[in-house]
Amino acid sequence: MSQTIAVLKGDGIGPEIMEATLRVLDALDCDLTYEFHDAGLAALDKHGTLVPPETLAAIETHRVALKGPLTTPIGKGFSSINVQLRRHFDLYANVRPAISFPGTRSRYDNIDLITVRENTEGAYLAEGQSLSEDGETALSSIRVTRSGSGRIVRYAFELARQKGRQKVTAVHKANIIKTSSGLFLEVAREVARDYPEIELEEMIVDNACMQLVMNPNQFDVIVTTNLFGDILSDLCAGLVGGLGLAPGSNIGSEVAIFEAVHGSAPDIAGKKIANPCALLLAAADMLDHLGMVEKGAKIRGSIREVLENDREQVTPDMGGSGNTDTFADALVKVVRR
Ligand code: NAD
Repeated sequence: MSQTIAVLKGDGIGPEIMEATLRVLDALDCDLTYEFHDAGLAALDKHGTLVPPETLAAIETHRVALKGPLTTPIGKGFSSINVQLRRHFDLYANVRPAISFPGTRSRYDNIDLITVRENTEGAYLAEGQSLSEDGETALSSIRVTRSGSGRIVRYAFELARQKGRQKVTAVHKANIIKTSSGLFLEVAREVARDYPEIELEEMIVDNACMQLVMNPNQFDVIVTTNLFGDILSDLCAGLVGGLGLAPGSNIGSEVAIFEAVHGSAPDIAGKKIANPCALLLAAADMLDHLGMVEKGAKIRGSIREVLENDREQVTPDMGGSGNTDTFADALVKVVRR
């Protein structure tokens, strides 16, 4: 039976890269039905809100969404749409694979690691921030819970098990932030006992940054709290050549939203030169999530092949002389073969 997914084309380059991504998905015969819904600036014009209730209801019904980048208007009192979606659906796990692809401007080859970031607590609490009346002292708090740590660490171990990974590295600062980071580490040790075939490695966050830059191939799956995960996952994207190839999944117990890590790139919107690969890799992760692991692998393989053998068709950010359409054409040709 066909699986219906909610599709949010997004703002800026969103519609262009979504069109390219759906063309490749169609060429793979995934038997998906797309239900298109508004969000972002297009929704604001049409419905007077950035995330209309119909869009939320559709995501809730279909449980899976593929989302283009959304622009959050600056200085008009709007809170980030991505934060709204994360809160609404309790999308507690932010999963960001960093994989080396040929011909990218990066320092290392053969990187294949996944960062699993806790997405709902930690240092990112809107209610935990204050500034004294004289403006001299700012306070922000960190909230880490046993249940919140438990579910994210378990998610990381389950992912490691499912993908045949050997090691989960819990990144923390428990030597200094003894309460919150200490609790996270304590829970990580408890959860790890249920996965005896997978090694739990503990690493202090400052050392983790150095190790990632010196020898990223030692990592397999990284699990960490919200703030550290935010920073480390960008560092990892940088290790494999930046935003053009960085997908991200936001996973909750009911709903999962798959997206590119990059934004709506207003500087190149409408020029048809946006690289569709980050959204396409997010679609590959979506297929894994839907149990179509071979098709997900086929997408990653086709990107690798086009980057290796058909460089003139790829977008300028990858050093090619093509555009979004020629890149998609080349990918479709490979997956159809
Ligand atoms: P951005 O990621 O949109 O752009 C940064 C730079 O990378 C730009 O030079 C852009 O041209 C380039 N770039 C980004 N994606 C590209 C692609 N696929 N192909 C080629 N080049 C690409 O970051 P920004 O300019 O800081 O943000 C623009 C808007 O996007 C803001 O409104 C922000 O709120 C929003 N945003 C949304 C998301 C999301 O929806 N997940 C994430 C980040 C930013």
